[in-house]
Amino acid sequence: MARRRIIAGNWKMNKTPTEAVELVNTLAGLVKNDDVDVVYCVPAIDIVPVGAALMGSNVNLGAQNFYIEDKGAFTGEISAPMLKDAGVKYVIIGHSERRDIFGENDVMINAKVKKAFASGLSPILCCGESLALRKAGVYKEWIARQIKWDLDGVSADEVKKLVIAYEPIWAIGTGETATADQAEEVCKMIRDQIAEMYDAATAEEVRIQYGGSMNAGNAAELLSKPDIDGGLIGGASLKEDFGKIVNA
Ligand code: PEP
Repeated sequence: MARRRIIAGNWKMNKTPTEAVELVNTLAGLVKNDDVDVVYCVPAIDIVPVGAALMGSNVNLGAQNFYIEDKGAFTGEISAPMLKDAGVKYVIIGHSERRDIFGENDVMINAKVKKAFASGLSPILCCGESLALRKAGVYKEWIARQIKWDLDGVSADEVKKLVIAYEPIWAIGTGETATADQAEEVCKMIRDQIAEMYDAATAEEVRIQYGGSMNAGNAAELLSKPDIDGGLIGGASLKEDFGKIVNA
C-alpha cells in the first residue's frame, strides 16, 4: 500500500488571527495538490479563524498542543475535545520545544498520544536527538527509546493512523538540514522499530516525516527517500516557499 504524503506546517508562536488569515489567503493558490495531505498547525488563538478561512480547501486544520483532561480547573490550557469541536484533525505532540522549554516528558507525551486518539484527533508525534547525542553515536538508541515510551499502550490500529516526525534538534531552526541519507537512516530505523513493536503491516502504514530546516531547495531530495513520507516544516511554512514543498 502506497503511503500518502503529508506536508505539515508548524507555525509555532507566529501570526496573530488577522495575520494568520492573510497567510492562508496568500498560500491558497500555492498549496493545491490532490496527492498530498496538507496541514497547518496553527497557534490556539488562530484555530477558529484559520478553520473558517480553510473551508472548502484541501488544507487540514492542525494544532500544536493540548492538555490531557477534557475540561476543568486547568487555567491556560485547551483540551482535545475543544480542538476536535473546532474542526482540528491533526495535533503535534512531543515537539522538542515542548520537551525542552516546557518540560514535557515521555509519560506526558504518551498520555497525550492516547488522549488524542480517544478524542478522534490524529497525532503527529515528534522524536529526535540533540547534537550531543548524535556526536556520542547513541542517537538511534535514544529515538528507539522515545518511540517505545511514547507509544506504550497504543494499539496497532491506532499506530496505523499515526504520523511520526523525526526531527533532529540540531537541525530545527538552525538552517542545518540532515542530509537525505541521515534522515532516511533514522526514518527507516523508526519503521523497523514499529515492525518490532507491532508487525510488518503496521510499519508499512505508519507515516514518517522528516523535520528540520526543510525548505523549497532541499525538500525534493529528502522526500524522494523510501521511508520519508512527508515533512514537518517550521520556518518555511510561513512563506510562499511552503507551496513549493507541498509540490516538491
Ligand atoms: C519544527 O520546529 O518542527 C521545524 C522543523 O522547524 P524548522 O523547519 O524551522 O527547522
